[in-house]
Amino acid sequence: MLLESDIKFLAGVGPNKASLLNKELEVFTFEDLLHYYPYKYIDKSKFYKINEISSSQAYIQLRGKIIRFETAGAKYKQRFIAHFADETGNIELVWFKGINWIKKYLQTNVEYIVFGKPSVFNRKINIIHPEIEEAIKENKHINASLQGHYHTSEKMKNSFLTSRAIQKLMQSLIQNTQANIKETLPGYLITKYNLLPFKEAIVNIHFPKDIKTLEKARFRLKLEELLYIQLNILQQKTYRHKTIAGFVFSKIGKYFNSFYNNNLPFELTNAQKKVIKEIRKDLGSGKQMNRLLQGDVGSGKTLVALMTMLIAKDNNFQSCLMAPTEVLANQHLKSITKFLENTGVEIALLTGHTRKKQREEIHKRILNSEIDILIGTHALLEDIVQFKNLGLVIIDEQHRFGVEQRARLWKKNDKPPHILVMTATPIPRTLAMTVYGDLDTSIIDELPPGRKAVKTIHFFDSGRLKMFGLLKNEIAKGRQVYIVYPLIKESEKMDYKDLEDGYESIVREFPIPDYQVSIVHGKMKKEAKDIEMNRFVKGETQIMVATTVIEVGVDIPNASVMVIESAERFGLSQLHQLRGRVGRGADQSYCILMSSYKLSNEGRKRLETIVQSNDGFEIAEADLKLRGPGLIDGTQQSGVAFNLKIANLAKDGNILQYARDIATQILKEDPELILDKNRTISYQLKAKRKSNTDWSMIS
Ligand code: ADP
Ligand code: MG
Repeated sequence: MLLESDIKFLAGVGPNKASLLNKELEVFTFEDLLHYYPYKYIDKSKFYKINEISSSQAYIQLRGKIIRFETAGAKYKQRFIAHFADETGNIELVWFKGINWIKKYLQTNVEYIVFGKPSVFNRKINIIHPEIEEAIKENKHINASLQGHYHTSEKMKNSFLTSRAIQKLMQSLIQNTQANIKETLPGYLITKYNLLPFKEAIVNIHFPKDIKTLEKARFRLKLEELLYIQLNILQQKTYRHKTIAGFVFSKIGKYFNSFYNNNLPFELTNAQKKVIKEIRKDLGSGKQMNRLLQGDVGSGKTLVALMTMLIAKDNNFQSCLMAPTEVLANQHLKSITKFLENTGVEIALLTGHTRKKQREEIHKRILNSEIDILIGTHALLEDIVQFKNLGLVIIDEQHRFGVEQRARLWKKNDKPPHILVMTATPIPRTLAMTVYGDLDTSIIDELPPGRKAVKTIHFFDSGRLKMFGLLKNEIAKGRQVYIVYPLIKESEKMDYKDLEDGYESIVREFPIPDYQVSIVHGKMKKEAKDIEMNRFVKGETQIMVATTVIEVGVDIPNASVMVIESAERFGLSQLHQLRGRVGRGADQSYCILMSSYKLSNEGRKRLETIVQSNDGFEIAEADLKLRGPGLIDGTQQSGVAFNLKIANLAKDGNILQYARDIATQILKEDPELILDKNRTISYQLKAKRKSNTDWSMIS
C-alpha cells in the first residue's frame, strides 16, 4: 500500500515537483520512483588536487573553498564565476544559468565538494555548471563511492530537480519503504539462478555497495524484466493456438502442381523449398498460421508468396498480398501475372490510384469470388474491400506497416485468415524474440544460384571521376545504373536542389545521344514517373537518377551499378536495401557510396559496415548497436510497448535468450501458471498485463 502512495506525499516532493515527475518521467507513485534507475554511475571515491587537473579528464571531484565571486559578461549574456581553491591552486567554476539561485546558495570560506567536467576557456581550465555541495552535508549521504546519475529534463533542472535531487529523494524513499518492498520472483528461481533478492537489487541499483553487487543487481532486474515479457508472449502464443481455429488447407491441388510442373521457370532454391514446406505444415495444421518470412533482398520471397497463394486457391480460398508502395504493388502484379500465364488464376490490383469505376468493379468481383489473388497497397485495408472467402493474407515488407494495419486484414473474414508477413530487412535476434515474439519464423538464407556478391566501394567527392569512369565502362557493356539521392522530409528543399544539380551534372557527363538518362522523384506526377520507370525497365535509358522511391522491391536484373550520393545520410538497412537492387544477374555488380570528407563517427561506421559486409543479418545487428532498437524501422512501437526500464534490446541479447529459455521451462511445466510455486509469477504477470495495455497487441 505504502508503495502505491502518490509521489506528492514523499518528503521533499510537494505538488510542484510531483507534477514535474508525473509529466517528465511518468512517475506517479512511490513505486514508480523506485523503478526510475540511474543511467550511469560515477566513481566518487577519488578526490583530485587542482594542480592535477587537465582538460582531457572526464569527470573529477575536488575539495576546497571559494575565495571570491565575480559576475562577468554583457548583461544578457552574464556568467557567474566562483574562484575555487585548494592548497595546490585555484580554478574557476562557471554558471550561465540559474545564477540568482547559485549566488544565494554559495558562500566563501565554507568547505565544498565540487564535481564536474573540466574544460578550457581562454587557455584556462574551468568547470562549467559543476555539482557543488557543502563537504559536511556530503558526508551524511549513503556512503557509496559509486554514485548513480539520473536522467532529468531541462524543465526539471530549472526547478532544481537535478540528478542530485533525485538521488536524495531516492535515499529517503528507500529508507522509508524498504520494509515494504516485496519479492517479485518465486524463491525457487532466485535460488536456482543465483539471483539477488529483489529488495537488495533495488537498493543496490540506486546505491551500489560495490561494482560486483551493482552488476548482480543489474542482471537480476534485466532478467526479470525480460522474463515477464517472454512469459507474456509465450503464454499468449499458446493461448492463441488453442483458441483460434485456422482454416485447414488440406489439399495441394492442380493449381499448385501445374504451376510447379509447367510454369516455374527455374529450380527452387533449397531454402525456398524448406520454407514452403514449413508453410504447408502450418496451413494444414488446423491452427491459424502466423509466420514471419525473412529473406535478404533478392532471395525470392515473391515466389514463395505466390506458391502459398496457389495452395489457398487449391482449397477454394482467396488471397491478398499487400505491399507498402505503388511501385512495389505494380511490380508484384507484373511478375505474378507473368508467372501465372495461362493458369486461369484471376489476379487484380487495387491501389490508391485505381480509378473509381475500376475500383467499384474490383470490389464487386472480390465479393463474388471472381478474383483469386488481390494485390495492392493500403487501399486493401479499407472497409469497403470485402472478400467472399479470404483465407490468406500476405504482407510484403511488413516493417512498413503498423500493428493495427495488420490486424485490420485479420478481420476480413469470420475466422482469421492465415498470415504470412515478409521482410527483407533482417530482424535482429533480440527483436525477433520480443517484438515479433509470437510469430513463427522462416528464413530464406540462400540466394538463387549464379549470383555474385556486389562489390561495394566508398569514394569521397574527389573520387567522382573514377566513379563516372566505372559507370561508362558498365554502360559500354550494355548494363544499366542507378544513381540515388537522399530525400529527407526535414531537408526536402535542399535535397531536391541536390537532386536537380546532380541530374544536370550527370546529363552533362553523359550526353545525348550516346546516353539516355531517366529521372524519378516524389514530386513528379504518377504518369510521368511511370513513363520514366518504364523506359528504364525496357532498357531505353541507361541511367536512372532517383530519390529513394526505388528503395523497395524493384527488380531489374540488367542493372549492375548502384551509386548512392551522400551515402552517410542513409541508414544501414536502407543502404543494404538499395544495394540489393543490383547484383541480380550473373555478372559482377557494384555499389558505390559517395560521401563528403566530413563524416560523423556514426556515419563513418555505417559506411564501413556496408563496405565490409554483404550479410543482411550482420548489418541489422550492427544497425541495432549503432542506432538503438527504438529507431529501427517499424519497431518504434517496441520501445513503448515493452516500456523497458533497464534491459536494452541492443545489448542484452544473451540475457534475453536466458530469459526466454527460463520462460519456456516454466510454461512447459506449468502452462497456466497455477502451481503454488508460481503464484508470484502469475500475480506479477496479471498486474503487468493490466498496466501495459500494449502487451496484448504485440504482432
Ligand atoms: P525478394 O526476396 O527480394 O522479394 P524476389 O522475389 O523479387 O526477391 O526475387 C528476386 C529475383 O530472383 C526475381 O527476379 C525472381 O524471379 C528470381 N528468383 C526467385 N527465385 C529464384 C530461383 N529459385 N532461381 C532463380 N531465380 C529466382
Ligand atoms: Mg520482394
